[in-house]
Amino acid sequence: VIDSTKIASLRAAFQGRLITAPEEQAPFLFDWRKRWKGRALAVVQPDTAQDVASILRWCNATHTPIVPQGGNTGLVGASTPDPSGTAIVLSLARLNRVRSVDAINNTLVAEAGCILAQVQQTAAAHSRLFPLSLAAEGSCTIGGNLSTNAGGVQVLRYGNARELCLGLEVVTAQGELWDGLRGLRKDNTGYDLKHLFIGAEGTLGVITAASLKLFAQPAAQMTSLAALRSPTHALGLLTLAQKHLGPALTAFELMSRNCIELVLRHIPAAQDPFSAQHPHYVLLEASDAEGQDHAQARFEAMMHEALEAGLIDDAVVASSLQQSAHLWALRENITEAQAKEGKNIKHDISVPISAIDRFVEQTNATLEQRFPGIRMVVFGHLGDGNLHYNVSPAPGVDPEQFMQQEPEVNAVVYEAVARFSGSISAEHGIGLLKRDTNAALKSPVELALMQTIKRALDPLGLMNPGRVLPTAESLR
Ligand SMILES: Cc1cc2nc3c(=O)[nH]c(=O)nc-3n(C[C@H](O)[C@H](O)[C@H](O)COP(=O)(O)OP(=O)(O)OC[C@H]3O[C@@H](n4cnc5c(N)ncnc54)[C@H](O)[C@@H]3O)c2cc1C
Repeated sequence: VIDSTKIASLRAAFQGRLITAPEEQAPFLFDWRKRWKGRALAVVQPDTAQDVASILRWCNATHTPIVPQGGNTGLVGASTPDPSGTAIVLSLARLNRVRSVDAINNTLVAEAGCILAQVQQTAAAHSRLFPLSLAAEGSCTIGGNLSTNAGGVQVLRYGNARELCLGLEVVTAQGELWDGLRGLRKDNTGYDLKHLFIGAEGTLGVITAASLKLFAQPAAQMTSLAALRSPTHALGLLTLAQKHLGPALTAFELMSRNCIELVLRHIPAAQDPFSAQHPHYVLLEASDAEGQDHAQARFEAMMHEALEAGLIDDAVVASSLQQSAHLWALRENITEAQAKEGKNIKHDISVPISAIDRFVEQTNATLEQRFPGIRMVVFGHLGDGNLHYNVSPAPGVDPEQFMQQEPEVNAVVYEAVARFSGSISAEHGIGLLKRDTNAALKSPVELALMQTIKRALDPLGLMNPGRVLPTAESLR
């Protein structure tokens, strides 16, 4: 039932784009994995930060919950509303201007709804690099990237979204506009408030624009896919690559054979560059400041030593941008291919890099013993100690039945994460998916501090309620 009085009141407060027709609202109401589906009072699409402030003031006056949404590619159920139909979805899609580029200061100011790929292209047009890079970059937004503190494939060299942000413009939960768009590398003037909003998953305020760090573009890049026997061999290769390449090593991605098989099965253009099958693969990329010959010589020396040392069994090195794109397609299509394959259980864990092989070996063994035939779809940012430790049902097992075992599968994985002093969410966030597990695992002191911050910045509890932190109702 549409609350027409409330919608008329919202329309009086905000004259911009307001979506109420169910068929037009539909794409905003379920998440990328189609795991959570909700309802909304309305979807609002402001054009300016001032519009966002008006909407939030109206929400305060009417006690209406707000679910900020960027590209809706999040994987933890944080960007879609609950089924009550009482919240508005605040889509930032139309706040999509790059406001300025300062090539000398190496900064760019982008509005929250800018698509990540658009920001990368704008930086490139000024001969600069914006290094945040992830498979969803064609649809995720800067606001979403910062709100989830996104990682991606170049964290190893450039850091995650938090480290790429110098300043923010934010509309507070009460509807005030804070201009914190400083482009400074040094600024010790009290609490660094931007860090509260980064990674907050829309629970503390709405990011409307960000000042982002740019870097020099690399003069040359080398991409290679190495085939190897185990994550232990991958760790050996990582150490060797860092010794040879130092900070020039920009990506180091591990994939188990099951990942490659899923991509080959579901992504039509994908090709296995090797004639034999291998248990594991590492996609490495190096960015060189000095040029192609220098890059190639260093890279080949490193790969030669890796072969000699028995760390890798085979390798292909891309000799063109097109070949590099083909290798990357194997890595970047895993999430998509796994979604096409059907329901699966996802984990986004991190452990100290040195423990990652033991984590995989021990956790695989426990899961394979408890859930015979379970398929380990393990891939991710090995260079950051972060794996997407996903599992798919054994062939022939009913996916719905498999999903019912999620709590038991999670218990095995999270026990192992705790044993290795790791994290249950390295880069995707908490959202709804891991809210209760996170609350159970955090120390009471840490949880209470988080709740104090939430109450201070969002006293009415309107910002993305029930995401990240449990609510009074969810605890009942
Ligand atoms: C194929 C695929 C690959 C992926 N690979 C990676 C990866 O390698 N690394 C990684 O970190 N993530 C990855 N992700 C997850 C996802 O893309 C990121 O979390 C991304 O940063 C989300 O951006 P978005 O604009 O889609 O945000 P949304 O999904 O719309 O929102 C995510 C969260 O941010 C909040 N939010 C959005 N915009 C704002 C705003 N302006 N102000 C306040 N809160 C806001 C939402 O309320 C929600 O809590 C992947 C996802 C897919 C589908």
